[in-house]
Amino acid sequence: MSASTAYPDRVSQMRLNQLTGRWVTIVKSRAQRPNDFAAREHQVEDPDGRPCPFCPGNEEATPAALETIGEGGEWIMRVIPNLYPAFEGEDGFAVQNLGPVHVQAEASGIHEVFVYSREHSDGLHVLSDAQAGHMMQALRRRFIDHAETPNIRYTQAIVNHGREAGASLAHPHGQLLGLPFVPGEILDEERAFARFAGGCLLCTTVEAEVSTGERVILENDDVVVLCPYWSGVPFELLILPREHSLHLQSASDTSLEAVGRALRDAIGLLQEALGDVAFNLGFHTSPHHHTGEYHWHVHIWPNLVTQAGFERGTGVMINIVPPEEAASQLRAVRVLS
Ligand code: AMP
Ligand code: ZN
Ligand code: ZN
Repeated sequence: MSASTAYPDRVSQMRLNQLTGRWVTIVKSRAQRPNDFAAREHQVEDPDGRPCPFCPGNEEATPAALETIGEGGEWIMRVIPNLYPAFEGEDGFAVQNLGPVHVQAEASGIHEVFVYSREHSDGLHVLSDAQAGHMMQALRRRFIDHAETPNIRYTQAIVNHGREAGASLAHPHGQLLGLPFVPGEILDEERAFARFAGGCLLCTTVEAEVSTGERVILENDDVVVLCPYWSGVPFELLILPREHSLHLQSASDTSLEAVGRALRDAIGLLQEALGDVAFNLGFHTSPHHHTGEYHWHVHIWPNLVTQAGFERGTGVMINIVPPEEAASQLRAVRVLS
């Protein structure tokens, strides 16, 4: 008799998509979050008017903070455990075959929320230099903590902004997900670094892009922000630290904090050019214990178009705004402001 393939109650579970070789997380308990299936509109406030759990004064609405930044009792940033974790627990990634095609594993790991501002209506674009630095240093400390936790192999830090980009709460926040496996997207990027014959793929990208300048929107001694040549969505952005470091957590203070300011400035340009657009932001770093070729970086994917049948069917994106055009529009904002 084969084991049951039915869904267990109130836990997360990993299931292997045998067609793609990629893992899927099924999280039943998340469907109980108040805003999960709210109407799709930019507004992300609680439709029932409940107070924001991330605002000062409502700290008891969240689990106890893992990290509080700020002096004199007034926090400026907090990292808290996610109340509805998609990944939880310390078990390793034991893969179980339940029969000829059903492969599962426990969704163990870490899921945290990073409230990076006290102000409910702020966003990344209004961070001060000091706040941008604090944010990146706090991220570094969380990454180090995850790397030292048994069975955590990769940490994905993200920001979702706006309902269209999947945000369920408006208060400025990001999330950190410590995973017991290395996700397919990162494995693909690692393979790209390994395949590339001319040194580091992203060091070479910085050199090549700065020399033409066509797709570069911001540049200084430490960071380059550009619309990638291969942008899959309109106004896609890539933030590249010039310093070559595999892991975010091993970057120098100068490089790390410069990326924080560049992030703020890049989101600022997007907002000035396009208004308050929804976006996803993802930090990519080498898996915690990998030492192969990699170069940490940040992706920003504005949510201006919907992925349709062709993109989902083939994985081939159709981008209606050439990145050279997007970059020139973003540079124009900077010249005007
Ligand atoms: P997002 O869905 O990207 O807006 O991220 C919001 C995250 O906050 C979600 O992952 C929620 O599970 C989590 N969350 C919602 N309410 C709370 C709360 N009171 N305390 C901690 N985390 C929460
Ligand atoms: Zn709030
Ligand atoms: Zn990447």
